[in-house]
Amino acid sequence: MADGAIDDGRESERHCAMCGTSTRDPSELLTWVMGSESGRTIWTCAQCSRRHVRSIEAKLDSTWW
Ligand SMILES: [Zn+2]
Repeated sequence: MADGAIDDGRESERHCAMCGTSTRDPSELLTWVMGSESGRTIWTCAQCSRRHVRSIEAKLDSTWW
């Protein structure tokens, strides 16, 4: 990923770490999942986070958690 911008908490666009979709709709962001990877904050959209759940249940590699 070439996106090195640091999001310091202001209301800005979030980008899904998995599919790259973005949103700045606060109500939509409520459905997103915040996580960390190597000390950086990452966001995952609702659709991808649902897939994460399945990955976790399957005990697959989950570096984003
Ligand atoms: Zn996504």
